[in-house]
Amino acid sequence: TDSSEAGAEDGEADNLTPLEKLTRDMCKDEKTMKELIIGRRVGFYKVRGEIGHGTFSRVKLAFHALTRKVALKILDKTRLDAEAQRLLSREISSMEAMQHPNVVRLYEVVETPRRLHLVLEYAGGGDLHSRICNERKLSDNDSKIAFAQILSAIKYMLQHSVNIIHRDLKAENVLFTTDSCVKVADFGFSTQVSNHNIALDTFCGSPPYAAPELFRDECYLGPQVDVWAMGVVLFFMVTGSMPFRAETMGKLRRCIIECNYTVPPWVPGPCQRLIKGILKPDPSERYAIDQMLGCDWLLPVEFPWSFLPCESTNTLRSLMDFESSSLEEEVEEIRSSLENLGFTTEHLQNNQLKDSRSPVTGVYRILLHQAEKKRGCDSLPVVRGMMRDPKREGLRAYRGLRHTSKFCVLS
Ligand code: ATP
Ligand code: MG
Repeated sequence: TDSSEAGAEDGEADNLTPLEKLTRDMCKDEKTMKELIIGRRVGFYKVRGEIGHGTFSRVKLAFHALTRKVALKILDKTRLDAEAQRLLSREISSMEAMQHPNVVRLYEVVETPRRLHLVLEYAGGGDLHSRICNERKLSDNDSKIAFAQILSAIKYMLQHSVNIIHRDLKAENVLFTTDSCVKVADFGFSTQVSNHNIALDTFCGSPPYAAPELFRDECYLGPQVDVWAMGVVLFFMVTGSMPFRAETMGKLRRCIIECNYTVPPWVPGPCQRLIKGILKPDPSERYAIDQMLGCDWLLPVEFPWSFLPCESTNTLRSLMDFESSSLEEEVEEIRSSLENLGFTTEHLQNNQLKDSRSPVTGVYRILLHQAEKKRGCDSLPVVRGMMRDPKREGLRAYRGLRHTSKFCVLS
């Protein structure tokens, strides 16, 4: 914490918990208060340099004063019109509804008079787009491992209790936390549907990743649009080049509607078949998630299904159950970390830990995620019995151009 920098006010400071020291500094310590005013500190987070930016946000590295590194997605409220505000509240509610090893976690939302800060799981390995542009296409094995994780995330999002359509899947929104651990990010265009047959009519996303039905000005079904975008991501991963590219939007539109793409012949047959099963112009003929999971290309991949996340509400219930003598190791660990930081029984009872706009929720979710990671929830899929792909140079065309997401009619 920063309390040492602030200096003990009197002997009492030594007896304060980290939480008490921090809250005291935030009210009394001049340096801390100044940092809060100038935005170098937001809530319990110390803000550092920029690590990314998007159409609507700047993303900075930050450190929770009591726990660990996070990413802060910062949005300027004064620049958000009614539509952008609606999308932002969906982004928050979608992220709150999800807990999956391959979906970026939302820990907390901190609001200041001018800005909104989404406190996110930090993905320090950069995004898939930059990785491919800066290095090269992924090997067949690495593609399998990355794609299997994206598939696992999308399968989870589409399961009935979650039912979230991403609508902006693209390589720029696939982040790495480690060398090969992948997280789907940026739920700014996501929507929660009551069932998969709901026709959607808001055209959003990034044109090179948009399915043909989006260009045909039709209503569309969410799952198929996400599946199409996964096909584009897969093509980009294994070839280093985009399947649909053109100098103008009109030409790109035609190219996508006509489904005019060619898979390079050196792409392994099973992968070619998967790409062709996904990139079909008629959405009803396109592969469904389970067909993708069962495809030949992914046959040698073992998913770490046993590590699906535990129900946070169960952990929460156990945390609240102070009489319980048979606490699971994980719950015990979180409770003792919270206690060491200075969070009391009252803090937990007064805050039901469901409201993202609470610093107690923030710490709780960070600790819970830390415990899940220890348990192995971020374990990677394993490719069994496969030879590494020979080192071939991928197509280097179409590099360096980041794809901007738009909320627009794609015509
Ligand atoms: P756009 O709609 O243009 O894609 P956006 O404003 O919705 O952008 P994000 O896509 O969420 O913003 O983030 C922009 C960039 O910031 C990402 O491409 C990535 O480089 C970086 N970034 C976002 N979230 C994280 C994170 N959790 N950890 C590390 N970097 C991140
Ligand atoms: Mg983005």
